[in-house]
Amino acid sequence: MSGVGKGVSTAAIGKILQSKGYKVTAIKIDPYVNVDAGTMNPIEHGEVFVTKDGTECDQDLGNYERFLDEDLTTENYITTGRVYQSVINRERNLEYGGKCVEVVPHIPNEVISRINNAAKKTRADFILIEIGGTIGEYQNLLFLEAARMIKLHNPKDVVFILVSYLPVPHMIGEMKTKPTQYAVRTLNSSGIQPDIIIARSEVPIDQPRKRKISIFCNVQEEDVISSPDLESIYEIPVNFENDDLGKIILKKFGIRSKKKDLKDWRRLANTIKNLKKKVKIGIVGKYFETGDFVLADSYISVIEAIKHASYFNKVKPELTWLSSELYEKNQNKLRELREFDGIIVPGGFGSRGTEGKIKAIGYCRRNKIPYLGLCFGLQLAVVEFARNVCGMKDANTTEIIKHCKYPVIDVMPDQKALLQEKKYGATMRLGDYLCLVKKGTVAYQSYFKAKWGKLNKKQDLVITERHRHRYELNNEFRKDLEKRGLVMSGVNPERDLVEIIEIKNHPFFVASQFHPEFKSRPLNPHPLFREFIKACLK
Ligand code: GLN
Repeated sequence: MSGVGKGVSTAAIGKILQSKGYKVTAIKIDPYVNVDAGTMNPIEHGEVFVTKDGTECDQDLGNYERFLDEDLTTENYITTGRVYQSVINRERNLEYGGKCVEVVPHIPNEVISRINNAAKKTRADFILIEIGGTIGEYQNLLFLEAARMIKLHNPKDVVFILVSYLPVPHMIGEMKTKPTQYAVRTLNSSGIQPDIIIARSEVPIDQPRKRKISIFCNVQEEDVISSPDLESIYEIPVNFENDDLGKIILKKFGIRSKKKDLKDWRRLANTIKNLKKKVKIGIVGKYFETGDFVLADSYISVIEAIKHASYFNKVKPELTWLSSELYEKNQNKLRELREFDGIIVPGGFGSRGTEGKIKAIGYCRRNKIPYLGLCFGLQLAVVEFARNVCGMKDANTTEIIKHCKYPVIDVMPDQKALLQEKKYGATMRLGDYLCLVKKGTVAYQSYFKAKWGKLNKKQDLVITERHRHRYELNNEFRKDLEKRGLVMSGVNPERDLVEIIEIKNHPFFVASQFHPEFKSRPLNPHPLFREFIKACLK
């Protein structure tokens, strides 16, 4: 079932196998027809994660990267769209030698060949393959078929793990195993028998229910792993190990641990549990609400990056979602921003809520509230600065107003043709690009400290960060903005594009055109987030 925690379970299993000395990679299979996640609304599908090679993918790849501390690439992501696209392309190129190309076996075969390809490229000992969606759904049948075939051809090399939800209805207060029993029956009808069942629930699963699942679902009792809700997802590997999951998996493959351990990770889980002091962060955005529910999924990497940086600074983050549209209707509401130690404006697209974000940014600038802008958060900070410090009254980004007098943020020239031809998929400025960080800036200090500890002002600093945008700071206005005090602290050396801005005489006001959140890891928090949280604590 979506949202039950398959992604973090997969990532946590990866972490455990890694901690036994093995090289691990993970593949996400999404059953939708979209070729990638780039064209999807984050409210529908959650955050679009971006890998270093510019793949716009499911947020679970972010979980894998954070847990495994490895950079993944396009090979780690499979969708129905990708599979069909390559089969159809091959058919058009006469690569099936005149045969009739059929859904079975050609589609599962393509899935298998993609998995083999990832194995070759990554040289991993283990590949974790997460099949998205719910068992019994029409959409993921062909992927289950591929999984069945892989096991058939390599019986000793495949272990199946089912992540199942066990509800505890409040009226009766008892954990129910029936949905899991049905899930296994349904999985069986695809020719797959799970070897291990991860029992996701609000509370730990007890022995009588483990026994019941064992009998009805045809698995050993010790192969039912308890996975209760935990305060932090980073405790999950440690919790799985309490049930010996690592040992159980290795035993099924007939191999042994190569001696390494989860020490760092256990220490992190411990730190998290014992944090007392809080830091209050407000996130001003718009992808929060769907019907009566507030979802934070759209900003998952931002949330995790805040957590990593907070843990590093030994504080517990308290996050509040602030809907920017409310600041447009009621200016007085801006005062609530004072209640926070720091404010973040994350990435975004389109005009809804934009004026509210600009107002919030101005409030942080004037009232010296620590501010971190991420992508759209940089662009709107530039608009605010142009309007209210440089007197360019109708300054804007041409994403919002096409023909304004001061287009301080404008579409990149190479993007114009793409937009005219409606070529939206995978055409933004995506993935890794270089950035030269200027000496003497807050950004420089942040990166330097994180990398080398002590400041050495002589060294030049070149960093690589991940991108996802079409619009840029318009270089025609760069001089005017700089004259009035906007510092361009990071620039892409190849195309002279502004990558980081900041302002002086402020506790912390830094924004980046790239998305630092994608590179933050639990044991290696991102420098900009690290220093932002530090400033918040002051
Ligand atoms: N909409 C802006 C652009 O395309 C910002 C994108 C973002 O925040 N990721 O440039």
